Amino acid sequence: QAKSRGRNMLCFFDLGMQAAATARSALEADIRAGLQRDEFLLHYQRVVDADGAMLGAEALVRWRHSERGMVPPGEFIAVAEQTGLILPLGRRVLREACQQLAQWAREPACAHWTLSVNVSAQEFRHPGFVQQVLDVIAETQADPRRLKLELTESLLLHDVEDTIARMRMLRARGVGLSLDDFGTGYSSLSYLKRLPLSQLKIDQSFVRDVLTDPSDAAIACTVVALANSLGLDVVAEGVESDGQRDFLLRNGCRRFQGYLFGRPGPASALRAADTEPPSR
Ligand code: C2E
Ligand code: MG
Ligand code: MG
Ligand code: MG
Repeated sequence: QAKSRGRNMLCFFDLGMQAAATARSALEADIRAGLQRDEFLLHYQRVVDADGAMLGAEALVRWRHSERGMVPPGEFIAVAEQTGLILPLGRRVLREACQQLAQWAREPACAHWTLSVNVSAQEFRHPGFVQQVLDVIAETQADPRRLKLELTESLLLHDVEDTIARMRMLRARGVGLSLDDFGTGYSSLSYLKRLPLSQLKIDQSFVRDVLTDPSDAAIACTVVALANSLGLDVVAEGVESDGQRDFLLRNGCRRFQGYLFGRPGPASALRAADTEPPSR
């Protein structure tokens, strides 16, 4: 009986794998069609200082799908990365972000805002990447010093020397480089010393329970101290309560991002919200 159950399970598992592969290639075709129909757009989430004043924003891609409505990146970025579609998608994201940055620069109230753009390791490793960034900056007239690229530690799984060389080229043009989701990946402290970064982002998984879990609190405080002593900016992600913000502030963190300050939304919402008096 156990044997037949085992056989059934195996069969079920195979069907599951088959179904997953089919779903994946359907999604791949759908992303391709979405790119052709220009269904991808950016939402923006504010990054604020200790007083809640806006320093800038992070661009987060969304898919306005004809049948599924607004699809979050968690549902398509991984497949886009696996299929190479992240390259055309990432180009659009970067172009739209730089256009937005150039637009803000023309409005006195927003001229100082920075904009962070997420870049997958696959994009960063692509041979034309650095030139592409420089081309988009030139084409849109965006100020490279207001652009930050958010990289993840997965970048360090491959040729680190090459990664550092690319990072240096971007930094030489003024582009900021931020390490996203810091603490969840593979970086060692010796890498951190060598990478020409400008910012660390404390992953939201450490922020979530920062008031109740002493280990998360210790990690968050250590990342802040590390960033401060290395001369890097540090942003806490996923801040949802005053308590979390106050704790981080007391421990030396001066930049925040999270639902407490605003959810991601269209650029127009960001601007409107910024002119309202603080709700707290
Ligand atoms: P991320 O770069 O770490 O972005 C932060 C994510 O946390 C966003 O999810 C944001 O909506 C969410 N978030 C912000 N504040 C809070 C909060 O207070 N509480 C909670 N629970 N969540 C919060 P989103 O927009 O779904 O993006 C997920 C991930 O998808 C991003 O994580 C990033 O890794 C990736 N991604 C987004 N846009 C792009 C893009 O244009 N290109 C690439 N390559 N990846 C992107
Ligand atoms: Mg990010
Ligand atoms: Mg993050
Ligand atoms: Mg992430």
